[in-house]
Amino acid sequence: MSDSTSPLSVLKRVFGYDSFRGEQQAIVEHLIAGHDALVLMPTGAGKSLCYQVPALIRPGTAVVVSPLIALMQDQVDALRELGVRAAFLNSSQEWEAIREVENAFARGELDFLYVAPERLLTDRCMRLLERGRIALFAIDEAHCVSQWGHDFRPEYLGLSRLHEQWPDVPRIALTATATPQTRDEIAQRLGLTQARHFVAGFDRPNIRYTIVEKNDVRRQLLGFIREEHAGDSGIVYCLSRNKTEDTAEFLCREGIDAMAYHAGLPAELRAQRQARFLRDDGVVMVATIAFGMGINKPDVRFVAHIDLPKSVEGYYQETGRAGRDGLPATAWMAYGLQDVVQQRKMIDDSTGDEFFKRRSGAQLDAMLALCETVQCRRTLLLAYFGQQSQACGNCDVCLTPPQTWDGTVAAQKILSAIYRLHRERDQRYGAGHLIDILRGKRTEKVAQHSHDTLSVFGVGQDVSEQGWRSVLRQLMAANIVTVDGDGYGTLALTEKSRGVLKGEQVLMMRKESARAAARSRNIMP
Ligand code: ADP
Ligand code: ZN
Repeated sequence: MSDSTSPLSVLKRVFGYDSFRGEQQAIVEHLIAGHDALVLMPTGAGKSLCYQVPALIRPGTAVVVSPLIALMQDQVDALRELGVRAAFLNSSQEWEAIREVENAFARGELDFLYVAPERLLTDRCMRLLERGRIALFAIDEAHCVSQWGHDFRPEYLGLSRLHEQWPDVPRIALTATATPQTRDEIAQRLGLTQARHFVAGFDRPNIRYTIVEKNDVRRQLLGFIREEHAGDSGIVYCLSRNKTEDTAEFLCREGIDAMAYHAGLPAELRAQRQARFLRDDGVVMVATIAFGMGINKPDVRFVAHIDLPKSVEGYYQETGRAGRDGLPATAWMAYGLQDVVQQRKMIDDSTGDEFFKRRSGAQLDAMLALCETVQCRRTLLLAYFGQQSQACGNCDVCLTPPQTWDGTVAAQKILSAIYRLHRERDQRYGAGHLIDILRGKRTEKVAQHSHDTLSVFGVGQDVSEQGWRSVLRQLMAANIVTVDGDGYGTLALTEKSRGVLKGEQVLMMRKESARAAARSRNIMP
């Protein structure tokens, strides 16, 4: 390798950087030598250079598989800016443009060809690739091949064909989110069993994780922004489109520069708002998860979730958009009992098959475990991605350790009450009514159903209403209480309830710290 084609000189000359970061150089050399690689690095760590540098050193065109058409255009534009010959093929193009790209590839005039997976696997495209010389295959967002992941794309399953047809061309699969389980699945399904794994650290030490109990979420959000991030750029994630608009309006009324963003808005308005978020300081984007993919704004100071994300992978990816510049940033979330009930119900009501429901249930459980943990949140988060770590000192649990209490008897009381109510088959009761019974409140509904005659009536006056909600949440997080498949969100016992009722298990529960409780009530005017 002459000096002008060494990885470092290409990095300097073409990309204008002085040195490689982390494992980039090792990965680059591994590929140049013709081997396969599986690369796991968090967003923003610099995955692209891992295949872009070897692509420019190996003879032929690098074929890059990418699932996001919008990103493809950006990547190709960025490479062309650098004077590199790049083009893409996807379903958004005119016939003429496709012909032009195909001819350029066949003549060997491209360094990079970006292709959407569904197009790559067509006969036409496979025949085209036979006509040129391929430097390497890069498979971006490789977790899309995993049915357990959060972003499964069936077209990815066909990509194992690449190896069968071009066994000598090195392949590199890249992803930002992968549990050890998903990692194995990627290796298996893409035929990358011989590939070397390069796993970067997933820790984002500058992000402070905080999860609070939800009571008046908009006020809590406002308090959080005013107290900790006044004037900062941030993203607020909500589950529904309506909620993004309502919340943005609310924040604006309170003097915060906020905008809503979701897939239901006209494309032009979305582009305009996104541009403003990127350009101006101190804008808060209130968005569904449609917002954020491929957005590279280094100084996002906070990411707030006012609804529970569906999985830890999703949570990690969304919170990872904060603090890309390495300066302190906050990942803040408020979650409550209603989130748990709603999500369990959504899974139950979904039209997905058994597999889908089981997977979604497992993802929700992992998310709830993160919310209810009495250990360092970062430790738990990293463990989810297969990484061991010490308590971080930079999350709410480390900074204000929650107290625990023996909640066994309380759990037995609430389980008995659920059992009693559940026997009244034609009636549906929610958590509020259940708690009224335990607290001995003679509400209209209690009187109407004579629930003051139940043996559990008034047995729970020693625990506050908020305390009961917390108990119920923790029982749901531990799958000791679940939501009935009746479509009404009725609470029900599970197989695990029996052991608790029989006193076979001690349940240590998280107590909301007095300080945190005070803080969440102490909402600024
Ligand atoms: P990822 O795909 O992992 O999210 P990118 O490949 O988009 O990350 O890189 C993130 C940013 O980091 C880009 O702006 C990129 O130019 C920059 N970057 C990557 N590697 C280096 C490096 N060795 N030196 C300086 N900047 C880098
Ligand atoms: Zn911690």
